Amino acid sequence: MSKTIVVIDAGHGYKPAPSGGVVFDSGAIGYLGQAQHREADIAAQYANSIAYMLRTMYPAIETRLLIATREQPLSLQQRRRYEPSAAAFVSIHLNAAESRNAHGYETWYSREHSVGLAHALHGALQRALAGRLDRGIKQKGLTVCQREKPSALLELGFITNASDLEYLLLRETRARVAREVAKAVAEFVGLG
Ligand SMILES: [Zn+2]
Repeated sequence: MSKTIVVIDAGHGYKPAPSGGVVFDSGAIGYLGQAQHREADIAAQYANSIAYMLRTMYPAIETRLLIATREQPLSLQQRRRYEPSAAAFVSIHLNAAESRNAHGYETWYSREHSVGLAHALHGALQRALAGRLDRGIKQKGLTVCQREKPSALLELGFITNASDLEYLLLRETRARVAREVAKAVAEFVGLG
């Protein structure tokens, strides 16, 4: 029997440049005082923690961590095509808005077969991010979510909102998100 594969995808980072070579896509940028924070870095930290939790707590699952590096840059299409047989694909992002007041977390999916995964993951965010603004589950066409198997994208909060950013930078927040998301994914694929 083949192992159940789960992919945790860290949004942004190094990607192939149209002209050849590699460019760094920082994703959205947020500031706390003078300190600049990049979405790609925070997404990578969260993806890392979620993957670590999955590997530690649910060894029956084959966890693949997708973090784009200079050596292995990733386009959106490469992410979309990666491990098509994976039972769940979860992409980690932070939101951004012109208004610094916009805040809260939300869960996105594209195809109908991903509704169940989106609900499971959103429940995990509700537990891990209790007290933060719940912006709900939303649907739109996202490149990385055009997969044959269930996939969803998490916007953990707004990097452009100081309160969200400070909260997401806390080690305890990341630990809670990692624990709850890993648990939800494991239950979704039937190995929880
Ligand atoms: Zn993003």
